[in-house]
Order: sequence, then structure tokens, then C-alpha cells
Amino acid sequence: MFSIRLYIRILLQVVAIVVVAGLGAAGIVTGRAVILGIVALFIAAWMISYLVYYLNVYNRRIQLFLDAIEDNESMLYFPENIGSREQRRLHAAFNRIHKLMTENKRKEFDRELHRKEYESWDRLMRVLTHEIMNSIAPIVSLSGTLLSYFRTKESVKSSEEITDTTIRKTVRGLDTIKSQGESLIHFTESYRQFAHLKKPEPKPFSLIRLLQNLQTLHQPDMQRQQIRFSLDLFQPEITVYADEEQLSQVLINLLKNAMQALEGQEDGHIRIQVKQQKNELEIRVTDNGPGIPSDLQDDIFVPFFTTKATGSGIGLSLSRQIVRMHGGELSVVSQPYAETCFTIALPAKPRG
Ligand code: ADP
Repeated sequence: MFSIRLYIRILLQVVAIVVVAGLGAAGIVTGRAVILGIVALFIAAWMISYLVYYLNVYNRRIQLFLDAIEDNESMLYFPENIGSREQRRLHAAFNRIHKLMTENKRKEFDRELHRKEYESWDRLMRVLTHEIMNSIAPIVSLSGTLLSYFRTKESVKSSEEITDTTIRKTVRGLDTIKSQGESLIHFTESYRQFAHLKKPEPKPFSLIRLLQNLQTLHQPDMQRQQIRFSLDLFQPEITVYADEEQLSQVLINLLKNAMQALEGQEDGHIRIQVKQQKNELEIRVTDNGPGIPSDLQDDIFVPFFTTKATGSGIGLSLSRQIVRMHGGELSVVSQPYAETCFTIALPAKPRG
């Protein structure tokens, strides 16, 4: 509807230009009204420039609209009560299209979120089932074997029937059952830690002291692995308002991961940098290990995602949750064998 009106208006303007220019030209050529003819040609020229200006206004609006769509501009709004009737209609049409596109994008985003959430749950269930079954199945089968040493189908064996070898095998079997049970307890413990993460209790503390303590704690392991370690603090003292125990847990996770990534690498280097900006405090833990492929950089924060044979996949998801509970963000940028950098960004001022 809007475009028909616009076409009619443009068509009328073109017809008017042709008529005025034709009359002017006729007046000049026939010599009957030369001055009027010249005036008519000027009017025609003015009408042409007005038409060009008029079309340019629309072109600019359409360009603005397309640019805004391309830049994902969410605050886009065209005034619907100023300009000519066609402009108002054009603006209303743009706003309608933009609203529809924004709604569609939001729905797509929600769908993606649900899909990721479902995948997380699915992965969680698979990991739980796998871990529990892996620990329980050998316990059940080994207990059956041990029982068969002491029991026949009908009755319990007498002490004379039990040999030293049977006792040794039983002790070995019980040891295995014990360690399987312990590893299941350990797994459940780490799961519980994840599921019942306590609310942070922020207090001011010295970040420098915390980092130096962590350095002392990890120095022997790093030396053994021949990893070079550097701590770039930029400032002699930095006070942080956070839950010290939780922040230390995050840093230990990041250091542990960096050290594991550098295992077997000769020129291993881990660097911790602290940068205090106006609104943010950044702590970066960087290593020069094999890095994280770009298609896994989102997955590594999903609970129970691990690429390690004996990993739990809890460290990073737990760390991100802790940092977020402090009003911050934990992110990663990785370039294989150059820089894998985890950044903890915390608000400079306490929340609330
Ligand atoms: P886990 O260490 O038990 O696997 P995390 O949640 O701490 O669990 O880590 C998840 C995954 O992220 C790891 O299995 C590993 O693939 C990847 N990752 C974490 N840190 C690094 C790092 N510094 N370099 C390379 N990969 C890493």
C-alpha cells in the first residue's frame, strides 16, 4: 500500500516535470513566449532536483535501516509522527519489520539456550551414569567372586576349606573394592561441591598476598615440570573485595589446568597478570600449551566436559559460576602453542 502511494507520487512528479519542461521548450522554440519558456525550464530543473532530493531521503532511510539490521542494532526506532505521510508510513513499516526480526532473533536465542541446557543435562546424566556404573559394576562382580571363595551353592565353607591363597586373594579384592568405593565418594563429593556452591562471602583482602601464596604452593610442581612462572602485578598492592577462598579455588583450577596442559612440553611458561582498570579488575592466567580448539571454547565451561582421561570436567564450570556470583566473568582466548589466556574480570567496586 505504502509503495503504491510512493510510486503514484513519483509518477505525478515526473509527469509534471515533463509537462512543464515541454511547455517551456515549446515556448522557446516557437519564439512565442521565450521568457516564460525559460522560467518554465528553471521550474522544471528545480522540480527535478526536488525529486532527486525526495528519492535521496528514502534512499538514506533505507540505507540506515539496512545498516542497523546488519549491525544488530536493537534500539532502532524510526519516528512515526514526523515527515510526510509516505515517510511516516515508511517508518512504521521499518519499525514493524524490525520488531518482527528482533522477536524472531530472541526466539532463536531462547531455542539455542534450551538446546544447550538440554545438552548439559544430557551430558550430566551420561557422566553420572557412566561414573557410577564404572565404579559399582566391578564392586558387584568382585564381591560375587569373593563370596564364591567362602560359599558353595548350599552352604558356607568351613575354616579348613579356606587356604592362605584364598585369604590373600580376598584381601586384594577387598582393597580394590575399598579404592573403587573411595573414588565414587570422591566423584560424589566433587558433584556435591558443584551442586551446592555456597554464596560468596566477600571481604577485602590482598590479592598480591594470595597470588604469592599460590606461587609458593605450586613452585615445587612447576620446578619438577620445568615450567617458567612469572607474576606481573603492575602495582605494589591491590585490595580485592571478594570471597578469598572461592577466588583462590578459581585460580588453583586455572593453574592446575595450565600445568596439565604443559605436561611434557619443554619450554612451558605460565604467566599471571593483574590489571586494574577503572571499573574492572582483570586477573589473567596464560600458558603457552597446545591450547583449546575454537569449536571447544564454549564446551569447556559446560559442567562435566573434559578431554582428560581422568578429568572430572568440573573445574572450569565451577570457576565460571564462582566468578559470575561475584558479578564478573571468566573467559578464554586461545592460540595453540602461543597463548591460552583465561581472564577473570571482576567489578572493581563491590556489588550492591
Ligand atoms: P578437567 O580439568 O577435569 O578436564 P576443567 O573444567 O577444569 O575439567 O577443564 C575442562 C577442559 O578444558 C579440559 O578437559 C581441557 O580440555 C580444557 N582446558 C582447560 N584449561 C586448559 C588449558 N590451559 N589448556 C588447554 N586446555 C584446557
